[in-house]
Amino acid sequence: MRFANRGGRAFVLHGDTAGWDLERASGGHFSSDPMEMWARHREIRSFVAGLDGGGAEPVEALALDAPVPVPGAIIAIGLNYAEHARETGFEPPTELPPVFAKFPSSVTGAQGEVRLPEGTVDWEVEVVAVVGTPMHHVAESEVFDHLAGLTVGQDLSERTRQFAGPAPQFGLAKSYPGFAPIGPWVVSLDELADPDDLRLGCSVDGEVVQSGTTAGLIFSISRSISELSSVLVLRPGDLIFTGTPDGVGMGMSPPRFLQRGQVLRTWVEGIGSMTHTMV
Ligand code: ZN
Repeated sequence: MRFANRGGRAFVLHGDTAGWDLERASGGHFSSDPMEMWARHREIRSFVAGLDGGGAEPVEALALDAPVPVPGAIIAIGLNYAEHARETGFEPPTELPPVFAKFPSSVTGAQGEVRLPEGTVDWEVEVVAVVGTPMHHVAESEVFDHLAGLTVGQDLSERTRQFAGPAPQFGLAKSYPGFAPIGPWVVSLDELADPDDLRLGCSVDGEVVQSGTTAGLIFSISRSISELSSVLVLRPGDLIFTGTPDGVGMGMSPPRFLQRGQVLRTWVEGIGSMTHTMV
């Protein structure tokens, strides 16, 4: 099943082109607030299965907003693919890779414009996990049971600020408005053949710059989240950016960064795609 946000209201899809306004379809049993879907993801899935397609209205992916519009936290994992670690000048980590936060005001939907700040803005396609039920000290084998699903994400990063100053500024440099595009929907795990082998990539003006698979993660989605939960309390609607494969602009020679007018397309197989124009 797919969880979405249409005009600020919780919306659930079956397939890509039809679905239900959750509050109306359930006669008020479920809230219209998209942030209220995550803790009740299992209950919503059985409710929607019971609808059996009846009364679904057509919807266009283009009309959807960020499926998780106000996450409590956005936790991101760096250097989680070996070739990406090498292209940025690091050895692939053997212990939990670096963890940093993006600030929630950087969230935007799967379509639209991203305003480029001064500096050097780079792309990072990532699979993003959406927490369903709360997690603390959760074993790797039980992580997927706690997730509402996965979505497509970009961890946009302004590299000049990121590496300037006495210590790296990951949080700030990755949190300009629009720097955390997600969407177009959150796909529940039962709909994915193998979350540990999802192809992901992105292109700039049609040229593919990143292409990888989650099979290349050093710490798999479930292992990363299990490790995070050994420290953090993960709450419904929190987002986890799971890392980016190689092919970022700063790793190219000469380095390349996003320019005004360029179109960035981002995809994850089995989930969907996003398109953003840089302005
Ligand atoms: Zn990243």
